[in-house]
Amino acid sequence: MTTDIISNTSHNSTASERFHAADADVNFRSIDGTLFSIHRKNLETHAGGFPPSEFQTLDEVVQLTEDTSTLELLFQYIYPQRLPDLETVPFTELASLAEAAEKYEVFSAMYICHTRLRSLLPDHMMDIVAYASKHGYPDIIGDVAPLMLDKPMTEMMTILPPDLFRAWILYYEHWNRVRQHVIQTDVGQCGHSSILVHVLRKLADLKSYRNLDDVFSMEYVCCESMKRIARSMRENVEKSMKTIPKYTELVRERFARNENKASEDIKPKEEPTIVRRRNTGVTVNDENSQTKDTKSDTFSATDADVMFRSVDGIIFAIHRKNLETHTGGFPPSEFETHGEVVQLTEDASTLELLFQFVYPKRPPDLDDVKFGALLALAEAAEKYEVYGLMYICRKRFRNILPDHGIEIVEYAGKHDYPELVGVMAPLMLAKPLAEVLAILPPHLFAAWVLYQEHWHNVRISATTDRTISQSCWCSQCSRSTSIILRRMGAVTSFRDLATTFHIDTTCCGSTLATYKKWREAVDREIKSIPEYTKFLDRNNLH
Ligand SMILES: [Zn+2]
Ligand SMILES: [Zn+2]
Repeated sequence: MTTDIISNTSHNSTASERFHAADADVNFRSIDGTLFSIHRKNLETHAGGFPPSEFQTLDEVVQLTEDTSTLELLFQYIYPQRLPDLETVPFTELASLAEAAEKYEVFSAMYICHTRLRSLLPDHMMDIVAYASKHGYPDIIGDVAPLMLDKPMTEMMTILPPDLFRAWILYYEHWNRVRQHVIQTDVGQCGHSSILVHVLRKLADLKSYRNLDDVFSMEYVCCESMKRIARSMRENVEKSMKTIPKYTELVRERFARNENKASEDIKPKEEPTIVRRRNTGVTVNDENSQTKDTKSDTFSATDADVMFRSVDGIIFAIHRKNLETHTGGFPPSEFETHGEVVQLTEDASTLELLFQFVYPKRPPDLDDVKFGALLALAEAAEKYEVYGLMYICRKRFRNILPDHGIEIVEYAGKHDYPELVGVMAPLMLAKPLAEVLAILPPHLFAAWVLYQEHWHNVRISATTDRTISQSCWCSQCSRSTSIILRRMGAVTSFRDLATTFHIDTTCCGSTLATYKKWREAVDREIKSIPEYTKFLDRNNLH
């Protein structure tokens, strides 16, 4: 509880002018020392957050953490009287009242504050969004969602609770796709203007989409053909923007999916991975398939004391002491009795490789193992904690990135190998955030958000920065610049600056010099992006 009951005599308090009825039976003191005498029955019938049992005796004063003006407003909501006019209340007092209403569950005040705060938007936007996140009002966030598109993703991750943040990622991604689409759609060009370049620079920034009149301002227009181009471009932008769902729709979808997922979770779990079956010997009949088990050629020592059966029915005879000394995941106590065969879920080819790593001999060369088999082996190594093999698989994966990038990142996320994600990170920039979110655990994802944001900032500054000025605006040079800007619509274009800046012809050397300066500036920014793994220790966000 945030309320402390302290003695009445310890403070020199002044009584509230409005709340000092002699027959009131509970006394509260504000943080700045004003006494409020309140009727218990009004608290009980209007608020859920003042538990009546806490206030048993008359001569006790309950110390609250709110100030006088907040309580003066709050207590008016528990009496049957005309309510205060919140339109004249300054924002900071209104915000305190809203917090107090939520804390003590004064329902009418909660509702009225919510409505009033919502009506103030977009003023005090981030304060109101923080309030909405804290108390679960996605409608408020939805109202200003388009205005927050240029907020850093990291800021949104800090403000929004996980579910609302996931919906935010989806929302942002819809916008980002629209931006990329409209920038990369070639709508043609007039013979003599630089206007397209200006429009492309503006459209590179999601902020601009709030005011398309400004983006397509007619003051720039040079000729009839540019007018047509601008019109069709604007139509394309508006049409694409209409495909973006509302933020609140995404929140609802998100919650609907969570409910489905929750009901799936109630279903009984799969059988544990190690199924033990009583059998009399090494060669036994499988109850299910009735096929005869065969022995592994490699692992058939007669003095072996633990028997495993692969999912495809091959028996492996292994020495207990080797399992004990090479693995952490085959608990020896599980295999006390001789004559038991332990059923594993891996196939024979995986186990054939796996068990070679529990014996002191030269391990098999994994270079020739196909990727699918290697992944199965790596998963088995993690499951049974075959440490040597775990290490070797990790190194091997590192070498074969990026051929199987996403599968390896998934494996890295599952088993917490950030360095593998780091190697792959620059190649994952094209992945929608929502997909990365599905693959990486929260701490690796939070680092990913920070990392990819640096790349997006490079994209924004490279495409909107006008400090690198072009001196020739002939049709050829304007065309070249707009080609580069279109390429820069995709953040992945910054991984390969040679291709991004490759232009066949320009009319003059001055534009080539401009591009050279432009490219150098971009290159400097890219080089200043820290490696993915550097972001790991800096965040503990969700
Ligand atoms: Zn023109
Ligand atoms: Zn030129």
